[in-house]
Amino acid sequence: MAIRRVYLDYAAATPLDPRVRRVMAPFLVAEFGNPSSVHAEGRRAKQAVEKARQDVATVLGAKVGEIVFTSGATESINLAVRGCLQTALATHCHVVSVATEHKAMLRALEDAGCEVTLVPVGEDGVVSADAVLAAIRPDTALVSIMYVNNEIGTIAPIAAIGKGVRKMRRDSRGIYPIFHTDAVQAAGYLPLNVDTLGVDLMSLSGAKIYGPKGSGLLYVRSATPIAAQIVGGAQEHSLRAGTENVAAIVGGASALQFAQQEREALSARLRPLQKMLIDGIRKIAPDARLNGSLTERVAGNINVSVVGVDGEAVVMYLDERGIAASTASSCTSSSSTSHVLRALGLSDQEVEGSVRFTLGHTTSKRDIRAVLQVLPGILSLLRI
Ligand code: PLP
Repeated sequence: MAIRRVYLDYAAATPLDPRVRRVMAPFLVAEFGNPSSVHAEGRRAKQAVEKARQDVATVLGAKVGEIVFTSGATESINLAVRGCLQTALATHCHVVSVATEHKAMLRALEDAGCEVTLVPVGEDGVVSADAVLAAIRPDTALVSIMYVNNEIGTIAPIAAIGKGVRKMRRDSRGIYPIFHTDAVQAAGYLPLNVDTLGVDLMSLSGAKIYGPKGSGLLYVRSATPIAAQIVGGAQEHSLRAGTENVAAIVGGASALQFAQQEREALSARLRPLQKMLIDGIRKIAPDARLNGSLTERVAGNINVSVVGVDGEAVVMYLDERGIAASTASSCTSSSSTSHVLRALGLSDQEVEGSVRFTLGHTTSKRDIRAVLQVLPGILSLLRI
């Protein structure tokens, strides 16, 4: 008999929501027109892209001209960082970010050729708004702080940082610093209104909110100086050249609408399951450490360290028993250590013994019970 699979890696990938698939379906088959074409097929494709742009703008409280569709969040982050710094470098050559950012951000900053201040996080994984604001200098071009961490689910005080940045800009009568947030892992759980958050740039991905892979966007507040990084045609307000992926655009927009409409209900449903898993793990392994704040944390994330076991081995044994979990983010699991857990001050053994469970749409009590049932055996097998 095939074992029932329990999927607890929703921060890495989410299945396509059937409602989103229905929205996308025509654009994968019959409606194949190029949005730049003047004929009826092209006009229908253009209409679909512009409706998606309007829908996204409404969700974010943005203007329709402020949405740039991309191939995902990695491209969106690269456009934000490189595009912003390219226009600013002559006068402003400093960036403020945090040590726990996604690799897409950290790598883009490494290549940027300007000085970067990575503000440390507390041992609870949360960055303080005051520490971020204190790191800003007169030559700071960009402040980029991720909204929710992909490995430990912690929430950053984006609105407080946005308020501080705006005040500094008003006081100096300047356009800098520009404030960007990677909101990929926040979209399913937290509000995204760009004015409330006070952001100038925001990166989102459809792939983490039950939309298609290869869908994403950058919100660009009007009058924010930014240079295109993919050049060619005049698509996406000349900020992202290339024929639009219409199916991905309409799918990503639809996924974002559902994610924001349903985020409170999802959080309310997942909170007790998150607690059940944390409490259950603590019962099985009283020395287990929850990585990241318990309170400043989205409902879908549980990241724990058990000293004396190898997290990768735990994940492999769980997989054998029908459960999909992960060690760190899907993007860092190939390298052996997590820069996020290190930034929290964890020891080598704690980093090595970490496992991440991320819950989602279909997660049930039965799934959590399945984990708690197999975990004692796996841990005693692996404990040194
Ligand atoms: N930022 C965060 C916080 C993420 O979790 C991810 C995906 O792993 C990305 C950026 C990159 O997103 P994408 O895969 O859409 O390029």
